[in-house]
This record gives sequence, structure tokens and C-alpha cells, in this order.
Amino acid sequence: MKTTRLTLTSLLVALFVTFGAVWTLAQDAERDIERIAGEVYRFRNRAHYSVFAVTPEGIIATDPINAEAAAWLKAALQRRFNQPVKYLIYSHEHPDHISGGEVFADTATVVAHERAKAKIVGEQRRTATPHLTFTDRMSIELGGTTVELSYMGRNHSDNSIVMRFPKERVLFAVDFIPVEAVAFRDFHDAYIEEWMDSLERVERLDFDILVPGHGRVGTRDHVRQFRAYMQDLYREVLKHVRAGLSLEEMQQTIRLPRYQKWFGYHSDNPRLNWFPMNIAGMYRYIQNHRRPN
Ligand SMILES: [Zn+2]
Repeated sequence: MKTTRLTLTSLLVALFVTFGAVWTLAQDAERDIERIAGEVYRFRNRAHYSVFAVTPEGIIATDPINAEAAAWLKAALQRRFNQPVKYLIYSHEHPDHISGGEVFADTATVVAHERAKAKIVGEQRRTATPHLTFTDRMSIELGGTTVELSYMGRNHSDNSIVMRFPKERVLFAVDFIPVEAVAFRDFHDAYIEEWMDSLERVERLDFDILVPGHGRVGTRDHVRQFRAYMQDLYREVLKHVRAGLSLEEMQQTIRLPRYQKWFGYHSDNPRLNWFPMNIAGMYRYIQNHRRPN
């Protein structure tokens, strides 16, 4: 037993040393850290991103992504800033973003929307259960840095929040405001009309830099662009449903050329060809929320 544990420890040390070397370059194929503005940084694990803010009294971290990613990040933060994570904030309860929270729970207060906590407990998510929850707004202050957490209504989930760093004018929003990309697949777990309303609320917030949970960093105008996309898609699908077209016919017919350059609009890789899936999700939603003659 003791030997096994020692071997494991040396393996972990070796891994951290390896990743530590990577950290100085700030990137490898799987993970990297880049500075967004001021004390706000962005952490990438493959195609998933979270942000963190470094203050003189500790670090405010967000989505841990998964246990392995969180362990890498924890080691990198220790090496670079020599500061513990004091807060860990979940963007929403989906497991691909918030698994592994237990890695930070030794030093961090875990924060989420109250509905996120209910689902984390109910679904037995593999992460730390939030210690602190809220319904509409919450402000967290640490070492002179403030992050404002706001619930914008239901959208990609019923518990997604946005995190605003007023000093850096950064907004972190996960999975419901892609930057120059169509929506992910078929609007699973989505509230489409409320989603469009929640985008309008985000457009009224005061920030310049939009950091999504996937894809590239954008600006506040990208919120408006994605809302326009959803509204255009909604209108087109509703029109074709009223005209009696089948889903297959719609997928053949509906084109939104304004968005043809966006990620996921068209791809030869069927897994990344999301626009026809967006049509299918919108079709399903409209069929469920409409009563024909
Ligand atoms: Zn999600």
C-alpha cells in the first residue's frame, strides 16, 4: 500500500513538473492560460474555458471543468501566483463544465445559482456541492476585486449565470452566447424564447469583453449578433412549420446566409455540422409550444 502511494505521489510530482514546464510557455495541445485583461485570466482545457481573477488575498476561480483539469490549474496557480483559490463559481450545472470542484473545495467557498445546487445534488454530479447560492444577484469581493453574479433568466439551462468583472469590463458567460458560432447541436435542455429575452438582458449590462465557455473571446456586440441569429432561426422555422414542411424539408430549404461564415453553420464533419441540428431543435421546440388549426 505504502509503495503504491509513494509511486503515485512521484508520478503526480513528475506530472506537475511536466505541466509546470508547459505553464511557463502557457500552452500545450490540451491546456493553456492566457491573460484577458488586468487580473482576469482565461483557462482552457481542450475546447472548454473558464476564467479566474488573481487578487492579493487569493484567487476567484470559476468552472473547474473536470478533476484532471482542475488539478492542473490548481498546480499552475500555486506555482505562478502562490495563492489559494478562495472562491469557486459555477456558471451552470452541466457536468462538462463543473466536474472536479472538489479539487478546490479545501480552500474555496463554492458558489452557484440555487437551481444549480438542486440539480448538482439531484443528479449526483461529480463535483463539490455549492456552499453559497443565490437567486437573482450576488456580489463577491476579495482583495479589492469584485465579481458580480447575475441570473439572466432561463436560456441554455435554467440555472446559467453571468459573471461580470467591472474593473476589467469582462463578462464570462457559458454555453448561451457563442461568439460567431451557431448554437451547440439541437438546443438540448434549452428554453428558447426565454433565452432570447435573457440575451437582451445581457446586452444591457456594462462590459466590453465577452468570454464564452467555448470558442474565441468576443465583445458585447456578439451578444446582439447571436440574439439576431436565434430570432432569425425562430422566424424561419416557424414560417416553414406553418407552411406544413417536414423537418427534413426544412433542413434542405432553410438557409441563413448572414451566418454562413460562423462556426458550425456548415461542416463536412457531421459532428460539427450544427446548423441542421439547430433547425431540428428549433423545430422540436416550436412543435411543443404551438397549437395548429
Ligand atoms: Zn451547458
